[in-house]
Amino acid sequence: MPVFTPEYLEKVAYHIYCAKGTPADESEIVARHQVKANLVGHDSHGVIHIPEYCERIDRGHIVPGAPFVVESDTPTTAVINGNWGFGFVVTEKATRMVIEKARTQGVAAITVHLQSHIGRLGDYPTMILNEGMIGMITADSGAGPKAVAPFGGRARRLGTNPICMGIPSDLEGPVLLDMATSAVAAGKIGLARNRNEAVPVGWIIDKDGNPTTDPNDYPAGGAILPVGADQGHKGYGLSFMVEIFSGLLTGLGFGIDPQARHNDGVFVVAFDVEKFRPLADFKTEVKEFAEFVKTSPPAAGFSEVLYPGEIEHLTEKRRRAEGIFVEDETWRQITELMHELGVAETVGQPG
Ligand code: NAD
Repeated sequence: MPVFTPEYLEKVAYHIYCAKGTPADESEIVARHQVKANLVGHDSHGVIHIPEYCERIDRGHIVPGAPFVVESDTPTTAVINGNWGFGFVVTEKATRMVIEKARTQGVAAITVHLQSHIGRLGDYPTMILNEGMIGMITADSGAGPKAVAPFGGRARRLGTNPICMGIPSDLEGPVLLDMATSAVAAGKIGLARNRNEAVPVGWIIDKDGNPTTDPNDYPAGGAILPVGADQGHKGYGLSFMVEIFSGLLTGLGFGIDPQARHNDGVFVVAFDVEKFRPLADFKTEVKEFAEFVKTSPPAAGFSEVLYPGEIEHLTEKRRRAEGIFVEDETWRQITELMHELGVAETVGQPG
């Protein structure tokens, strides 16, 4: 597998998106979010999606430069229509709005509809926690194609319906619970297919509802299971609620429309910690709390207890030093695109 610096991968993504007619500022945002996903270890949400996003641009499913329309606006809420823009661009802007509203009002919430994939959710609550606020975001794809079987069922009825919460603290890395409410994010199945690897038991079932480790069973009519294995009713319940926040509250609706384009409905909220108690005290106490939890002796098979978000922080440190591995198949597709779009020379060789 080739290894690259994050700067090089951002350059690759930036020039590809620019060549597809995306404004430079938007190309920078999309490239930054995608490579950040690789940096923190979520390769399923990184540069692997470049060919797919380009194809969506070709089909008109992603509209670079789409207008960001505020359909409703109050001091504490807003409804955003992204007009099928890049989800990274629309949701980053919506998150900046929610921060500004929460700064004056203490609490604010925004819904976003009609935008493409927002990628790894962690980036948006990180923007909020960097401002001394608690952030939360949920996402779902409305009536878009489904991935997950409900607890007790075997047909796809839900998205992977992720939720992410970020907390400001004095810890070195962000406290960030960022998770699909399914056993696994759908992108990790695609990654396993590109890497020709089996997936763990408990991630997916085949089209007849049998447990399987073959990632090819998923696109062949299988489904992902809700998080929680034999306690999957809890993951399913969380997924149900995420869909209500980001699918129903946004007005995207539910169900399955096979023609529907990828549509990440989003609910994002910020709470200004200072309105509840002094921020400095809170940040100190969150650090102390994490340190207390980490004092638990590790269980068999573990080397230490981690706080939510710590594994991504450690991975980012390592990958900044060692580089980002991209699987051969993904790199082959990206290289082909660079040549097709005539940007290979502009991008140049990895430094
Ligand atoms: P995951 O299972 O790798 O991690 C989930 C959470 O558990 C993270 O907060 C992580 O810090 C924490 N964690 C992981 N290992 C830990 C450990 N050993 N100890 C303590 N905490 C630990 O994540 P996932 O559910 O596979 O999701 C991966 C990514 O996919 C996320 O970034 C999510 O936002 C993204 N996603 C996006 C969409 C979308 O449509 N945009 C859909 C689904 C998922």
